[in-house]
Formats: sequence, C-alpha cells, structure tokens
Amino acid sequence: MDDRKLKDASRNLAILVLNVGSTSLKYAVVEPQTGAKSIRGLVDRIGQSGGDAGCYEEAIERMLHYVDMGAIDAVGHRVVHGGAMFPAPTRVTAEAIEKLRLLDKLAPLHNPPARQVVENLWQRFPVIPATMVFDTAYFSQLPEIATRYAVPDSWYSSYGIRRYGAHGTSHSFVVQKTIQFLNQNAPRGKAKHRILSLHLGGGSSITASIDGIPVDTSMGFTPLEGVAMGTRSGDVDPGAIFYMQRQSGWDPESVETALLRESGMKGLCGESDMRRIEAMAEAGDSRAILAIDMFVRRIQKCMGAYIALMEGVDSVLFTAGIGENSALIRSKVISGFRWLGFELNEEQNVAPTWVGGLARLSPQGHQLSVFAVRTDEEWAISRLSQPQ
Ligand code: ADP
Repeated sequence: MDDRKLKDASRNLAILVLNVGSTSLKYAVVEPQTGAKSIRGLVDRIGQSGGDAGCYEEAIERMLHYVDMGAIDAVGHRVVHGGAMFPAPTRVTAEAIEKLRLLDKLAPLHNPPARQVVENLWQRFPVIPATMVFDTAYFSQLPEIATRYAVPDSWYSSYGIRRYGAHGTSHSFVVQKTIQFLNQNAPRGKAKHRILSLHLGGGSSITASIDGIPVDTSMGFTPLEGVAMGTRSGDVDPGAIFYMQRQSGWDPESVETALLRESGMKGLCGESDMRRIEAMAEAGDSRAILAIDMFVRRIQKCMGAYIALMEGVDSVLFTAGIGENSALIRSKVISGFRWLGFELNEEQNVAPTWVGGLARLSPQGHQLSVFAVRTDEEWAISRLSQPQ
C-alpha cells in the first residue's frame, strides 16, 4: 500500500473519470464501489469563440480548480477508439501513449484530444495510476465474421479497415447489470441469456450479446454505421456518397461532415433532439412523424437480423437518453415484436419503477423481458480504473 492510501485506508476510493469529446471535457469523481459521484463538471465548447476554454490544457486547469488531485486514488480516461491494439483497459505509460498516437486517424475528432488529456495529466501527476478505457474494447471479443467487411483484403491488412463497434462500455455495463438481475430474480438454470441492448441517445447503436459476450453490433469502422441517429445518417449506400461527391464537387471532408452532422433525424425533419421531434410529431408535423417512424424501423430491422443470428432472444434493453426516457419510442419498437411474444406493461413503460438503475417494462413473470437500464459509463470506467 502506498503513502497516498495509508492516509486513510478506511475511506472509499475516489476515481477521477474523464470523458473528452470533440469540443468538451466532462469529469466526475466517482466511488467505484457504489457509483456515487461527489463532483461532476463540464468544460464546454473548447477552442470555440465564447467557449469555456481555449484549449484542452486550459480545460484541465479549469477542472483542477474543482478537483483536489491529492484526494484522487486513480484516474480513468474514456477513449473512443482502441483499434485492434487495445482490446482491454490499459494502464497509462509513455509506451501506451505512443501506441495510442497511432490511432489518431481512426477517430480524428475524439482520439487526439483524449490523448492530449491523458498525456497532460499523467505528466503532471505521474504517481496517480491512470487507465484508458476504450469504447471499442467490449467488441474486441467479436468473431471475425462480424468484424470484416467484404472489401479487398489489402484494405484490411494494410489499412485496418474492419468493424470495431462503439458504445462498448455502455453495452457491456447494461448487459452485465441485467444478467445479474435475472440471475438473482429469475434464475434460468443453464439457459443462455440472449440479449439485445439498444443504446439510443444522440448516437445510437444496437448490440446482440449471449451471456455477456457480443455477437454483433451495429456500429462499424466508425460510429457512422448502423441505425439512423440524431445527426448521423447510419447506413447509406456508399454509391450515393460517391455520386454526391461527383455531382456536387464537394471534397470528402464536406460529404463526411454532412453525414455526421446534417443527417439522421436532423436531415429528415430539421431537428436532432428526440424530445423536440416527439413534440413536433404530436403537433402533426409530417417530417417529424417520418423521422420517428424511420428511426424505429431501422432499429427493428437491426433487431430482427440479430434475433436470427442469436437463434432467438430473451431480453431487450433500452438505455441512454432516448432508451431510458422515451415511452413512445420503446412502445413503437416493441410493437414490431408482438408476433414473437414481446409485450410491454404500458403503465410501467410510461412511468417505470426504477430499482438500482433498472426497470422491468414487460409484465411480471413474462418469458421475454423488456427492461430500461440506466447506463453509467462513468461508473463502469471507475470500476475498470481502480488501483491494483
Ligand atoms: P449523448 O449521446 O449526447 O450522450 P444522450 O444519451 O444524453 O445523448 O441522449 C440524448 C437524446 O435523448 C436526445 O435526443 C434527447 O432528446 C433524448 N431524450 C432525453 N430525454 C427524453 C425524453 N424524455 N423523451 C424523449 N427523448 C429524450
């Protein structure tokens, strides 16, 4: 035990969890045993005019006004892309940072600022153990048949073009929580847990897992693949992208920006926030109605495919901003699977009874379960970042 811990061996651990976005730094001090957060903060619009900080170094300075590093036992960094190099949480070392640099191109908006923050904090506080937790790590267990694209082999072998998935920390967290709940409350003997987790938020992804091991997931080489999202297109025929480049004369960056920031719900109805889209649809806006119906249909198409891959399904989990809060989306999604025996208790769907971050939405005792599960990536990262 080192001096830091000898200070007060009886107190709970305090893990500083950092989540670096393309223009933001979110931080929280988390107790890994309980998930309790003593401090939470956000430095927003970094590098933008009128933003909270001019650069990430300044953002760290701001954070350090609120976080006493003398009371921190370990640091956990969320890193979006771990490529094939980081299949598991990895302790921060000079070598690990150099390896991470090689992945900058895979997630140009997220990985370079995260790396800067990892490096900066590690240099300032070298005695505090720090861990990088990768969004892609859960999916390092995917079989090759789920990760390869049917493209020339050199794309894969020379450029690393394959499916990596995203939101892995969240999918893993909600799947584990549900398996634990089912094992305690509705033991199924040796029967497998075939679970569809629907992470529906600003970005959305769907994962099929059997007994906590992923079988397939909807995001691919980047978080642009899969279902339609707030501002991201999800799956589009690549032919349409080349056609647009030729016809409009746009460079690849402009087309990429359009697919990342101007598409999805925003492209369909001019609005990306689901609460507002639901209000617009309620008021009869036909574009908002189409956007919601397409959002739901894409999700159902993906679920149907994954049910085939798992040769059935036992539980469907809704998580993230839309999944945890939108009774309308949950009801529409599940209504497409009544033929399979899925049912919602509509009272619970509208006003869920949350117990320990989980709410059962299917009728009590029903074979096929539907749950809303609160995702907590900060808690998950804190658990994976505890000092040895
Ligand atoms: P991010 O991916 O940015 O972390 P979140 O997981 O917070 O996003 O999800 C944000 C989305 O959740 C937004 O589209 C927001 O409108 C939606 N949302 C939050 N609460 C509700 C609600 N009560 N009903 C419908 N949608 C909701």
